[in-house]
Amino acid sequence: MHYVILGAGAAGLKAAERLRILDQKGRITVVAEDVSPVSRCLLHHYIAGARALDDLSFVPSYFFGENNIRFINKSACPSIDFDQKVMRLHNGERLRYDRLLIATGARAVLPPVPGLAQAGNVYTLRAFRDAEGIAEVCGTGDRTAVVIGAGLVGMDAAQALLQRGVKVHVVELADRVLPLYLDAPAARLYQTLFEQEGAAFHTGTAVTSAQQNGAGQVCSLVLANGETVPCDFVVVASGARPNLAFSSQKSGNIPRTSSAIEVDDHMRTSTPDVYAAGDVTGISGIWPLAVKQGIVAAENMAGKDSVYQDTFSKINALNFCGLPALSIGEVNPPEDTDSAIETLTSGAVYKKFVTENGILRGALLVGDIAGGGFYAAMVKRGIPLKRAAQRWNENFTDHFAVDEKARYFYAEPTPR
Ligand SMILES: Cc1cc2nc3c(=O)[nH]c(=O)nc-3n(C[C@H](O)[C@H](O)[C@H](O)COP(=O)(O)OP(=O)(O)OC[C@H]3O[C@@H](n4cnc5c(N)ncnc54)[C@H](O)[C@@H]3O)c2cc1C
Repeated sequence: MHYVILGAGAAGLKAAERLRILDQKGRITVVAEDVSPVSRCLLHHYIAGARALDDLSFVPSYFFGENNIRFINKSACPSIDFDQKVMRLHNGERLRYDRLLIATGARAVLPPVPGLAQAGNVYTLRAFRDAEGIAEVCGTGDRTAVVIGAGLVGMDAAQALLQRGVKVHVVELADRVLPLYLDAPAARLYQTLFEQEGAAFHTGTAVTSAQQNGAGQVCSLVLANGETVPCDFVVVASGARPNLAFSSQKSGNIPRTSSAIEVDDHMRTSTPDVYAAGDVTGISGIWPLAVKQGIVAAENMAGKDSVYQDTFSKINALNFCGLPALSIGEVNPPEDTDSAIETLTSGAVYKKFVTENGILRGALLVGDIAGGGFYAAMVKRGIPLKRAAQRWNENFTDHFAVDEKARYFYAEPTPR
């Protein structure tokens, strides 16, 4: 049996590890564009100069050797023949597979701003080469950057650029930073901290055009509110889509919605022996769920009957300017719901709880994230608050199982 995995990210490598546990004899090959396994969540540390490439890996250096996995790096796959079960690599190699997992993640998308896509000094932040490009353009001199988008990726980039001594402007369409995770008071806390580091924010407005100099570089951005922001380079962090770059016309028909690969609850596509996991499925865009999908895909590839159940993706940990936060569930409920909101502010700590009919729907913890595991389980499982038999103080629940009374217990380890 030859298992081929396209993508060495969260889903791909977790699947490879699980496959090796379940099938000691099968051949496993991982193909990736990346030079080495890199955690996207750590890329900003490379830009900031705080970590080298080797320190961005999320698997130990002996991972491939010890698990007897062939790793073909720096090799994009331009097409797959699903009928013949052959993958064609950029280096000319043709790779036959028995079972294939597509785990190519997501790709950054540029907003349709005139003058942006064609310019030479516009960067996204998704792969190591993006981080390398940004680190290089920071240089050592007096530079000004505009970051488009104040989500997790944009704020990661902004923080790293500030650490490099770059002057940073952040433009955000919503009325606040980190709008998917924070409410207005929490967003204000973070914005103030960034401003103290020297960042300038332009919220509630959009970039409408990019002005280029004679060298084809963006030299200023024009905003919908009438402002013009001069800059030396631009980092775009305003959205991502499933990465279907491998899926050229020659790739035949891989089932997909308009932008993602469709899978069933076994992470199977409807093409025989082809599975998909992680951001490429469009199910979620967070690391822990990509890992879980990789595990389920691998188990089914190895002949087990494994169902993907965890679709709760509204949990995000943030840590900017030394201030940690945990955003769980619905922290900005629509006004027309029956939600009750309770907030607590004490010094640098801000907490908000959203309940509806006795059930915790959302929790926002800023400055003190203790109890986060408890709240996450309550929101995720919709357990009525009055049934909570005990309150425990675990910050992360992914490694624990939770019963119907919100008591946690250690799940049995999966046998090798
Ligand atoms: C800057 C940044 C910060 C983030 N921070 C967080 C965070 O704090 N918390 C969180 O939960 N999530 C975070 N995320 C999201 C998280 O990284 C993703 O959800 C997760 O990496 C998805 O895993 P994946 O395996 O689907 O894809 P990825 O980890 O992106 O891996 C994709 C793999 O596919 C390979 N590949 C792509 N195309 C091809 C091709 N044509 N041929 C060969 N190989 C190919 C790539 O080289 C790579 O190895 C962040 C993302 C970014 C970009």
